[in-house]
Amino acid sequence: MARIKDIISPFTAWKNVVKEPVTIKEPLKREAAPRYRGFHKNDVDTCIGCGTCESICQNAAIDMVPVEGIETKNGDSGLRPRIDYGRCCWCALCVDVCTTGSLSMSNHFKWVDSDPDVFRFIPGVDKKEWDDEPNGYKKPGPNYELYSKERVHMPELKPEERDKSFIEIVRGYSREQAIKEADRCVECGICVATCPAHMGIPEYIKAIRNDDPNEGLRILYDTNPLPEVCGRICTHKCETVCSVGHQGDPLSIRWLKRYIADQQPAENYKQILETENISKNGKRIAI
Ligand code: SF4
Ligand code: SF4
Ligand code: SF4
Repeated sequence: MARIKDIISPFTAWKNVVKEPVTIKEPLKREAAPRYRGFHKNDVDTCIGCGTCESICQNAAIDMVPVEGIETKNGDSGLRPRIDYGRCCWCALCVDVCTTGSLSMSNHFKWVDSDPDVFRFIPGVDKKEWDDEPNGYKKPGPNYELYSKERVHMPELKPEERDKSFIEIVRGYSREQAIKEADRCVECGICVATCPAHMGIPEYIKAIRNDDPNEGLRILYDTNPLPEVCGRICTHKCETVCSVGHQGDPLSIRWLKRYIADQQPAENYKQILETENISKNGKRIAI
């Protein structure tokens, strides 16, 4: 037999008829939180087209594209990131890693269009209503970095010791110091075009990070037969354009090159470079 409570309980739902609804009738009118990770913005004049945002994106939502009016020059690839909202998950890793701080997110999240192609756009170039929106997600303060802004200090001979010998003042990185410094490189390759020899800088820095200086030596010799010398006296123009240098110290590219060259005595180079079997042609050059 049904209990009296079971008979009455369906009618208790009627009391909700006079209550305020909990559901949001018009979700598109809802305001996002101030730090909401919404649509991207990019200050294209500050952006250098380093492509680090493209490299870090786990969804392959970014590709770097040429933009009319932005030229390739030293320290700027001339490319700018294009974002595909069919792939993006708004994780904001691209914003967190941006080497110049040009990339950020507005807190806009509403964009209705029947053409799916418009959701692939170049922030800062394809003008949007949220471009001047002050709210949204930006890289948090200076203590929030995906890579260290400070270069590893290079040990030097103390002044009182310098006048007693001809020992090099710059002592060179230890293995731990070199790996730590190499770990700051975002492998963007912006520096390569500025290096007069167009050396494989991100590749040999990666070899250091992988603790494989012999591989680094092979990469150095691909483009430069004098890495021991260049690792000491090169004017390191590459460092003037290093993308990491926009918000911190540039990579110690020259010292890292020297580190590789110093890891083996010169008499071992032939074996590492596998040049022992190269037959001599009898000709000589002067440098
Ligand atoms: S927010 Fe995340 S998924 Fe979207 S483009 Fe940036 S890194 Fe890629
Ligand atoms: S990481 Fe920043 S500076 Fe580099 S291409 Fe992307 S938006 Fe531009
Ligand atoms: S050394 Fe600097 S500019 Fe060169 S690849 Fe590394 S981060 Fe990029």
